[in-house]
Amino acid sequence: MFAPQLHYAKRGHSEMEVDPSDSGHHAFRMSSRYEKMLYKRCGKSGVLLPRISLGLWLNFGDNDSQPTARDVVLRAFDLGITHFDLANNYGPPPGSAETNFGKILRKDLAAYRDEMIISTKAGYDMWPGPYGEWGSRKYLLASLDQSLKRMGLDYVDIFYSHRPDPETPLEETMGALDHAVRSGKALYAGISNYRPKETRRAAAILRKLGTPCLIHQPRYNMLDRWIEDGLTAVLEKEGIGCIVFSPLAQGMLTDRYLREVPVGSRASREHFLKSEAVQKNLPTIRALHAIAKRRGQPLAEMALAWVLRLPVVTSALIGASSVAQLESNVKALTNLEFTKQELTEIRDILRSAQTFVKLPHRKKETTRK
Ligand code: NDP
Repeated sequence: MFAPQLHYAKRGHSEMEVDPSDSGHHAFRMSSRYEKMLYKRCGKSGVLLPRISLGLWLNFGDNDSQPTARDVVLRAFDLGITHFDLANNYGPPPGSAETNFGKILRKDLAAYRDEMIISTKAGYDMWPGPYGEWGSRKYLLASLDQSLKRMGLDYVDIFYSHRPDPETPLEETMGALDHAVRSGKALYAGISNYRPKETRRAAAILRKLGTPCLIHQPRYNMLDRWIEDGLTAVLEKEGIGCIVFSPLAQGMLTDRYLREVPVGSRASREHFLKSEAVQKNLPTIRALHAIAKRRGQPLAEMALAWVLRLPVVTSALIGASSVAQLESNVKALTNLEFTKQELTEIRDILRSAQTFVKLPHRKKETTRK
């Protein structure tokens, strides 16, 4: 069980509590509004990220309830979630999540900009013509300007290449990230969905340019463990942080689908998550649910604790369609420990379900209809 014996470390003017169980990868608890959240260093950088971050891929677009979106963002910030993750294409419609987040920033959070880490990305289909997706300098830098305008910001904290482009020289894509940082429009550079070899090359190029790669954003959850096959080792060696997206497998690793596909759930919309995938994974989900029950925590909390068990994982990047989901997920931080037996049982369940390694797709084809 996670019962931190807190040590205090003087850092500047603020007191931070250090969790000694996190050897080598210090997690800090800060006083005041940051009381309940744990923070962890992002790779070998100076940046601490909350162990749970909030992503705005879905639930924050023009088709979603704006009052709920605002409540979720504000509650997240009050819970110590300092990191909000966006991308040019989040919505739907694409761009609307950034616009809506910008409104919340202006109205409610303008005074807190220096307490927040805001990221955006470019890589997927955003506008018509040959310069509206993938990894050219032309696309990345134009997209960053558009994102800043939509959010009403002078800079983002992290700017990502959202996916590697097999036809653009990696030097060009990394050069664009370096330029974004040098121009002051981003503070750090990141990559997402890059495989181990691509990551190593990207890190070497960025290092040579003088803008080290801060962070990698891959998918990782109990149903998709591809990062264990090489990527985590590269990130550890390179000193790059890791923020894992869809740690709940888009909601499958929660109690949401144990009985049915509820109206209004992501799977009921049959867009990014299909009910077929839910059905296929149900036996695994039920077996995992039984272990979570024994541990005295909901499956969602166990699934988050499980991704956070890897020393290289800085933060779990969740989505939430309600304040209740968000609050429940943050409770995962009160029970992060696993016994050896639990880990073995989980591994056996995942093995028999053959959930290992699903490398990110690489076919160069336009995502535009
Ligand atoms: P999750 O795996 O955390 O899924 C979130 C969804 O699960 C919620 O919208 C909700 O779905 C359901 N859910 C969450 N908590 C609970 C709970 N406690 N009980 C029941 N259901 C719950 O992550 P996402 O797939 O949403 O991705 C998170 C973020 O990762 C994105 O917002 C984005 O920032 C990033 N991302 C990055 C990608 C990349 O290529 N770099 C790709 C995809 C995501 P419901 O709507 O059914 O309520």
